[in-house]
Amino acid sequence: MKIPFFDWPEIYKEDRDKYLSCIDRTLLSGGFILQEDVSKFEQNLCNYLGVKYAVGVADGTNALLLGLRASGIGPGDEVILPGHAFIAAAQSIHHAGAACKLVDINMHDWLIDASVIETAITKKTKAIMPVHVNGRLCEMDSIRSLAQKYGLKVFEDGAQALGAKFRGNHVGHYSDWGTFSFYPSKTLGGFGDGGALVTNDKNIYERVMEMRNHGANEKKEISETTDVWGTNSRLDNLQAAILNEKFPKYESYIARRREIAQHYNTNFSGFDHLKLPPQPSLDETNYDVFQNYEICTPLRKRLREHLSSKGIGTIVQWGGLGLNKLVNLGLKKRLPATDLFFQQSALLPMNHFLSDSQVDYITQNVVEFFEANDGAF
Ligand SMILES: *Cc1c(COP(=O)(O)O)cnc(C)c1O
Repeated sequence: MKIPFFDWPEIYKEDRDKYLSCIDRTLLSGGFILQEDVSKFEQNLCNYLGVKYAVGVADGTNALLLGLRASGIGPGDEVILPGHAFIAAAQSIHHAGAACKLVDINMHDWLIDASVIETAITKKTKAIMPVHVNGRLCEMDSIRSLAQKYGLKVFEDGAQALGAKFRGNHVGHYSDWGTFSFYPSKTLGGFGDGGALVTNDKNIYERVMEMRNHGANEKKEISETTDVWGTNSRLDNLQAAILNEKFPKYESYIARRREIAQHYNTNFSGFDHLKLPPQPSLDETNYDVFQNYEICTPLRKRLREHLSSKGIGTIVQWGGLGLNKLVNLGLKKRLPATDLFFQQSALLPMNHFLSDSQVDYITQNVVEFFEANDGAF
């Protein structure tokens, strides 16, 4: 059996006829830029997440940048974020003109450690940016209380966490705004780039709506009194149409991911040298969507070689680099937990279209590896 880490054509092939007619319908209507499908998609996001406003933008990275700029983050400001994050979060803070303040992660779910955020707060700190890696939300209640205590804003990088909940609430609930990415391999993947920002703040919403389209107002006109430096960061209408087609199935995608994660966790438990993500069925605070299934093991190199020899693809997320390793970008920082995590982490195949026999084959090969090597290590 051959199981690539991610089977790219499959996100199209699984419902090809439906997508072909969607593409045909949309293109025949002449709806290319900022048409009905974009506003319909924004409405879908609002209904699903229980937030007031959503703005479709070009991608998840631009969603972060526009959010930061709309919140007035700029030169002289500091934003606190974890070392365990995608470089996009740091890039948007930099391009907004502000500085990144990296903090470490906890060893329980490998997300920003709320208990160390306080040590990074200075007079210049303006915001905390939790990054919900792998489809699990950070400890948003502690983060929000800290932010309230120090008068800081909270911005969520939810690129991997559409549908994830913390104490029953989605991205956008505990913060000033949150963002999503619809990159093809994300849980809700388009056929190209796409992103969105969600917020309950009308002012942020209006600014980001203007910014994504060169500062134009609702009538798509640029007025002489405009006071925003906009840009082009529009979500393609065709991508929005595709995402709308996928939306009704999204809950079933998540259910399948959680089912696979549960199967992995059940079968992989009990090995000394294998750390697993929190088990979906035992977690009452968090509802995780498993954008990725990430494990940690000091035997990573040999495990990956073994699985590769069996035709199973794995990857090390972000090349195994924490943001604190980007020394030439001025981000060097001692973050022991982040470093340990990146030395041992690996992603197993995880997506809604894996078949039962594929999941069984992966499971069997991982278990065989640890049965042979766990004790001998
Ligand atoms: C994918 C991703 C992004 C960036 O999204 P793009 O749509 O690719 O720009 C940002 N943050 C995290 C955590 C991501 O996984």
